Amino acid sequence: MVACSRTFDDGAVVEHWVEVRAGEEPERIAPAPASLTLRLAAPLGSASLEWWRSGWGEEWEPERADLDASVRLESLAGRSSARLHPFAVLRVGDELLAVAVAWSGNWAIDVERLDDDEIELRAGLGDAGFAHDLAPGATFRTPPVVLARADDAEAAAIALARVGRRHWFAPRPVAARHPVEWNPWWPYEDVDIDEATFMSGAEEAQRLGLDVAVLDAGWFGVPGGDWQELRGDWDRVNAVRFPSGLPALAASVRELGIGFGLWLEVEGVGARAALRARRPDLLAARQGDDLGYVCLGNPAAREWAFDVVAGHARACRLEWLKLDFNLNPGLGCSRADHGHGEHDGLWAHVTGLYELLDRLRTEFPAMLLEACSSGGLRWDHGIARHVDLGFQSDPDWPEHALSVFWAASRFFPPELLLHWCDSEWRGEHPQQRFRADDPALEPGALDFRLAIAMLGAFGLSQRLVDLPSWAGERVAHAAHAYRDTVAPCVAQGDLRRLSGQPLRSGRGARWVGFQVDVPEGGPARHLLAGFALPGATGSNPLAAHGLEPGARLRVRDLLAGTERTAQADDAGRLPFPSDLEPERAWLATLDPIT
Ligand SMILES: [Zn+2]
Repeated sequence: MVACSRTFDDGAVVEHWVEVRAGEEPERIAPAPASLTLRLAAPLGSASLEWWRSGWGEEWEPERADLDASVRLESLAGRSSARLHPFAVLRVGDELLAVAVAWSGNWAIDVERLDDDEIELRAGLGDAGFAHDLAPGATFRTPPVVLARADDAEAAAIALARVGRRHWFAPRPVAARHPVEWNPWWPYEDVDIDEATFMSGAEEAQRLGLDVAVLDAGWFGVPGGDWQELRGDWDRVNAVRFPSGLPALAASVRELGIGFGLWLEVEGVGARAALRARRPDLLAARQGDDLGYVCLGNPAAREWAFDVVAGHARACRLEWLKLDFNLNPGLGCSRADHGHGEHDGLWAHVTGLYELLDRLRTEFPAMLLEACSSGGLRWDHGIARHVDLGFQSDPDWPEHALSVFWAASRFFPPELLLHWCDSEWRGEHPQQRFRADDPALEPGALDFRLAIAMLGAFGLSQRLVDLPSWAGERVAHAAHAYRDTVAPCVAQGDLRRLSGQPLRSGRGARWVGFQVDVPEGGPARHLLAGFALPGATGSNPLAAHGLEPGARLRVRDLLAGTERTAQADDAGRLPFPSDLEPERAWLATLDPIT
């Protein structure tokens, strides 16, 4: 067993893994060794651990514990971020270590207190029952665990984003264009969507300057059927709703001058899918019990999944593929006829998934690949290396969207984080109250929502056709500002949080701010974003910092479209506008006047 590592940025970021090579005899690895084992001097009272709980619509809820006792974070749901996010921040004295397990299945981060003076950090694959049989001469490699060491959380976040962009998440041209998406899922779901509805929304999307229209679940199956029960039958287009078929629909969208995208859950198999009878060899099962998904540990299943996706990608010339996964595979498949072992089925599935994603990206360079899993329940440093964007959460009301972005951008380059603009829900959700035809909707409130979504990858799931003309103009203005200024600044720059994490239900920060410092050659030198959530009182405490003391600055307000000059104070700070009302945003660039 060999402990391996790769160092980036003079040691600020290190990737750790372990390799086991079998000799002339087969070897069994059980359980998997930790990818990272690190002893740290940490006298009692000097160390703490932060992490984030997850759940559907409840991603990135912070937790904290002192490390006077041991703490074990573990996910056995089979999806990396279904219950906890595979990230932690360890503080020992003045030093901070950010830990990221780059794996989309089961994982563990253990901090064991060894004695009054020392702790041991271990991180890697979870599941104590894991066993993997190595053939003679073969090598087993554990998933990487990334460690960033810094003086503070912002420096760690910046180091992770910089190294990530260069080495793990380098943007493909299709993502570097920062396309803005319209996806009609929330206002129509699979009930009110059909060809005419989709086309009228796509026409409006094109008119407002969006780039791609993505058709979500509901395009397949039979009339009246529940999409979840029919997952797997990806060749059965619902001909009642989509009589022209998908290739013709895609061609019509392209004729408008925008791209066409499609949702698929290629791993999922519904209870009533015909696939069950047609290809029983593909299905994952554990001790004979059906697990409801296609086991990608099986090479035949990988081939099948590639053919399914490639068939649609070619026929529709897809520019966007949203790959969803809506179930917890738990410990995974134990079938003996899939080419994997009885106790490493989930590991084989995740490994096979990465192989499938890589093959799709190679075969379809013009198709943007989005990972989604009931929102953000399988989003980690592993899958992010094999896709272009990660969908952050199903709900996206302002407080929740800011909370998720605040935390996720501690570990990911923000341009990978796709979250829509306060979606218009057909179904019930107490916080998703946006209505395109709401007579009380005001420009400032709409800009507030748009500006939140513009911080990461930008999309809308609203009834565009119902937006009043002034609101359509705001959306068009936002899409333009996003592509020209905001997205290039975010993708090139260093993002810092200027406030604590806002939390759901009125908790946490109410004044929420971000600053992006952009290298020379970008659209601006700094991007500033400030938000007053409901409950924000008093004067706006947010300020840009790290500016040249006394510098004269040109301030471009990207929402208002106005420009003024300002001066940094002697400490290199520039206060945000003091008069921001709740549910209002300020989004601006700063450039020194020379
Ligand atoms: Zn299997």
